[in-house]
Amino acid sequence: MFEPSTITISRGALRRNLAFLRQRLNGARLCSVVKGNAYGHGLDAFIPLAMEEGVDYFGVYSADEAWHVVEHLRKCPDLFIMGMVEGDGLAWAVEHGVEFCVHDRDRLEQAIGEAGRQKRKARIHIEVETGMHRTGFDRTALGPALDLIRAHDEHIELVGLFTHFAGAESSSNDQRVTAQMAHFQQALDRSHLAGLHPTYAHQACSAAVMNYPHTVGPMARVGIMQYGFWPNQETWFRYSAVSGASTDPLKRLIGWKSRVMAITRVAAGGFIGYGTSSEAAHDMRIAVVPVGYAHGFDRGLSNLGRVLVHGQQARVAGIVNMNAISVDITDIPGVDKGDEVVLIGEQGDHRITVASFSELSEQLNYELLTRLPRDIPRTVIP
Ligand SMILES: *Cc1c(COP(=O)(O)O)cnc(C)c1O
Repeated sequence: MFEPSTITISRGALRRNLAFLRQRLNGARLCSVVKGNAYGHGLDAFIPLAMEEGVDYFGVYSADEAWHVVEHLRKCPDLFIMGMVEGDGLAWAVEHGVEFCVHDRDRLEQAIGEAGRQKRKARIHIEVETGMHRTGFDRTALGPALDLIRAHDEHIELVGLFTHFAGAESSSNDQRVTAQMAHFQQALDRSHLAGLHPTYAHQACSAAVMNYPHTVGPMARVGIMQYGFWPNQETWFRYSAVSGASTDPLKRLIGWKSRVMAITRVAAGGFIGYGTSSEAAHDMRIAVVPVGYAHGFDRGLSNLGRVLVHGQQARVAGIVNMNAISVDITDIPGVDKGDEVVLIGEQGDHRITVASFSELSEQLNYELLTRLPRDIPRTVIP
C-alpha cells in the first residue's frame, strides 16, 4: 500500500511466452517452475495468472512453497515439490496429494511409511542421478529402490521418473549432457523391466527444450523462459541461427517502478552521497529514488546503474544506499518530485532490461530476479 516501489507482471507477455513454449512442447505437459518466489515475480501474482492462461501444473523447490500455494489459492493446481521435503512437510504433502521428489532411500522409506499411516498413496517422482552429481539414485541404488516401490504399490503412485541436466544451455557441456540422456534412458528401461511405468519420464528444463528438443517427452519443467528470459545468450543465438528469427519471441513479464522522492542540487566539486566515489564535475541536479540494496537494487550498480526518468536514462550517482539511490538528472529538464522512475522495464523509447542490469552488476538474470524482495507488491497488468 505504502511501499516505495512496485513490480508489475504482464499478462500479455506471459501469454506470448506460453504460446511459444507450447509450440516447442508439442503436446507435452508443461510443469511451470515457480521456485524462488516464481523467479522473483511473486507466487501469489504469478500462479493465478498462469492458471488463467491455461497452466495447471507447477514445480516448487520445497514443501513450504507448496504449502504457501495450497494455503493462499482458492483453486489449487497440481504441485510438484522438486527438492526439499521431509518430516511434517512430507506428511503434509502425502495428505494433500502434492507430488514430491524422492531422491534417496531414506525419503522413499518415509514416503511409504507415511502413506501407510494415512492409508493414502504418496505421489512421487524418482530422481535419477545421471551425472549432475547433486541428488538422485545412482545405478546401484536404483534397482533396490524400484523393488521397494513395486513391493508397496498400494502406497506409492509413481508419477514421474526424472533427472536434471548439468548445463543444457551451453554447448561446452554437450558431452556430459548427452551422457546423462543415455543414462536416463537406461534407468527408464530398468523401471519398465521392474514392471513400473511412471506417468511422466521427464528431463527437460528451458535450455533442453530449446537445445535438446528430443528430451521433452511427455513433460518438461520450464522456469526462466516463461518469464521471458533465455537461459543464456548462447541458447538465443542458437535458436535465432536455426530458425532465422531476428526478433526475440520471448517478452519479459516484469517491470519495476518507483518515484522521485526528493530533488537536490550539487555544486561543482561537491560529493554525492556517502564518501567520495562521485564528485560533481559541474553543477548537478540529483533525484533521490527510495530504492536501495535492501530492495534488491544491487550495490554493484553504484555509479554504474541506469534508471529511466521522463523517458530518458539517468545514471546512478554515488553509492547505492540501503534504501535509496541518487540519480543524475542534470540533463533531464522538468523532473519533479513524484515523477515515475523505471528501474526495470520501458518508458518512452527506452528500456532497462534485467540483462543489462545484471551485466553491470555481474549477476545472472536468475539471481537478480529471485533476489527481488517478497514484500514489494506485485500487480498484474494487461
Ligand atoms: C529450476 C529447475 C528447472 C527449471 O529450470 P529453467 O532453466 O528455469 O527452465 C527444472 N528442473 C529442475 C529440477 C529445477 O531445479
